[in-house]
Amino acid sequence: MLILGIESSCDETGVALVDASGSAVPRLLGHALHSQIEMHQAYGGVVPELASRDHIRRVLPLTEATLQQSGLDLAAVDLVAYTRGPGLAGALLVGAGVACAIAAALDKPTLGVHHLEGHLLSPFLSADPPEFPFIALLVSGGHTQLMRVDGVGRYELLGETIDDAAGEAFDKSAKLLGLGYPGGPALSRLARQGDPEAFKLPRPLLHSGDLDFSFAGLKTAVLTQARKLGTELPARQADLAASTQAAIVEVLVKKSVAALKQSGLKRLVVAGGVGANASLREQLDAACAKRGWRVHYPELHLCTDNGAMIALAAGMRVQAGLADRAAADYAFDVRPRWPLAELSLPA
Ligand code: ATP
Ligand code: MG
Ligand code: FE
Repeated sequence: MLILGIESSCDETGVALVDASGSAVPRLLGHALHSQIEMHQAYGGVVPELASRDHIRRVLPLTEATLQQSGLDLAAVDLVAYTRGPGLAGALLVGAGVACAIAAALDKPTLGVHHLEGHLLSPFLSADPPEFPFIALLVSGGHTQLMRVDGVGRYELLGETIDDAAGEAFDKSAKLLGLGYPGGPALSRLARQGDPEAFKLPRPLLHSGDLDFSFAGLKTAVLTQARKLGTELPARQADLAASTQAAIVEVLVKKSVAALKQSGLKRLVVAGGVGANASLREQLDAACAKRGWRVHYPELHLCTDNGAMIALAAGMRVQAGLADRAAADYAFDVRPRWPLAELSLPA
């Protein structure tokens, strides 16, 4: 079963081909990615209209590159998967439209995939894939959630951010420090040269007793601190970056540990762009090793958006007998807002 997957929910166009034959984890045969980061940099964030137009330009050449890499012909594809949501409506429509056009030309079905399910399952493509059940820490640009995952389609939300996402906290703080867009990677690079204890920044909801997060107050604290420093800021920028990262990472680690304790599970899966953060990985590894728990991550290059995770999620859905939405009428819709919990099967 060869599945072509197309991701276009935000500012990355991704295409991938997986082989989901049998019951083994789907095998990645090829994938190609184009990031629009440079195009949006001038605006300090993603411009939706520009994103849609660029997806249109990129998606077919990336599809050709993917096929070439895998040495296969488009005619070999059995199912065309695309990101149905959540994300930018116009951007999603490009991927969905192209996926349905390709599928119609091939007379094959399509499957709309949930972007967060893609992130969540992406560690299955790593050299050290997890096993169900596990606790998932999903930390991306738009989401911060802790979930109990008992299998494909069996997702129980345990807690989530009540305001900004962890990636947003990185991005907004980085912007305040003049580090450009997207700020996460830049802030974490600068943080390596700084002292994480230099500034006392808030750890919101750390002791709230639940598994929710709040990061909106952090950027205000960073702004206040930056203003206080005034002309001293350039000299203390690395310290402030390190302190900001430390605040975000500490909350993510402590709440993940709490979720594992509460559930009695011994396995943590981290997914989403912030999962690429070296300090987060280090501290999660240490906290879990101490307790005899395992942590699984996506490969570094598959932490942020990509087509591989969409093709993979489609493949795992098909294998689990859950591809009920596989459609052959080529009428497509997208879900810019789409809670992952809506995918959940009854227990
Ligand atoms: P969502 O998946 O919730 O719709 P998204 O697709 O925009 O949002 P991702 O592509 O998963 O999010 O991740 C992008 C985010 O990850 C950005 O906020 C970026 O700053 C952050 N990020 C990427 N690398 C790092 C890093 N090394 N350290 C911290 N944050 C990072
Ligand atoms: Mg992105
Ligand atoms: Fe994403």
